[in-house]
Amino acid sequence: MIRQAVLEYDHAADALDRLDELIGARSVHVLRGQNGYPTVERLLPSIQTYPATTFRGECTDREADRVDLDGADVLIAVGGGKLVDTAKLVAVRNGVPLIVIPTLASNCAAFTPLSVVYRDDGSYDRYDVFRVVIERVIVDARVIASSPYDYYRAGVIDTVAKFYEARYLSGDASTDAGVDAGLALSKQCHRLLELELTETAFRSYGEGTRYAVDHVLAIGGAVGGFGDAGTRVAVAHAVHNALSQFETTHLFLHGDKVGFGLLVQESLRGSEDVARLRAWLETVEAPTTLEALGLSTDEIPFLVAAVMRETTLQQLPEPIDYDYLKIIIENLQKSIYK
Ligand SMILES: [Zn+2]
Repeated sequence: MIRQAVLEYDHAADALDRLDELIGARSVHVLRGQNGYPTVERLLPSIQTYPATTFRGECTDREADRVDLDGADVLIAVGGGKLVDTAKLVAVRNGVPLIVIPTLASNCAAFTPLSVVYRDDGSYDRYDVFRVVIERVIVDARVIASSPYDYYRAGVIDTVAKFYEARYLSGDASTDAGVDAGLALSKQCHRLLELELTETAFRSYGEGTRYAVDHVLAIGGAVGGFGDAGTRVAVAHAVHNALSQFETTHLFLHGDKVGFGLLVQESLRGSEDVARLRAWLETVEAPTTLEALGLSTDEIPFLVAAVMRETTLQQLPEPIDYDYLKIIIENLQKSIYK
């Protein structure tokens, strides 16, 4: 099935200035985060006049239930990926449309009809796919350009992964129109490898950065929206999920762990791209060894078993060979190139 959630996507240097007009006479409730919100408030003081709930940081059922819309006609989400995921749950449960103002360029949550839901203890629970109406995603360049660079950098890695994971699942082309559209969009995501990924380039917000931000926030989300199971996550995200079970990796951002997962995935495929990917990840200062991620040799069997569990859940086109996976991961313990 082809699924998209967003009616309008407005990325401009003055995108916030059109919010009042979009709201019109409707009553509003705001779900706001703590980090990016002050920038939005400074640019658009009128947002303070709406009833609001401050997000507590995790997308859980309890958190979604806590947001009381009190009859509001529309919900506005101002924040990062977990906040946006929570807002989608709230909007669906209350039958209201959603307007999203991302404060980070790190994920495609604003563009996907699904939420990743955690349990109260912080462990992963499930992801829900649903029909949510996102009226507009408001990407104000003034907000994004002043957001933390590291999140953007990790978001770019996660978006480049769309290409490799879609190719892992569906190859280079498909006779299914949705999957083929997803593959075409994923090839655009791959081009982010060629852009200058530095904090200076990010802050100056030139053409290349705009192109990358659009892919992180929107096009990357549309890849899975078009291709469904044919272009969603594969081994790289399974490795991410497995790594996340180790305490030392909690210091690393999502995209950093996915980047390491890409090295595992492409090595499994015997892909020619491994060396290029590794060089790129090193250039952008992402971890490329288990040592850098804080894992010791002793922990390798646990990691391999966790990756096997995760990939079994994913129902990949072909099951992964345990011994081969173990050799690949052992080879990624320390870089032989340093
Ligand atoms: Zn991801």
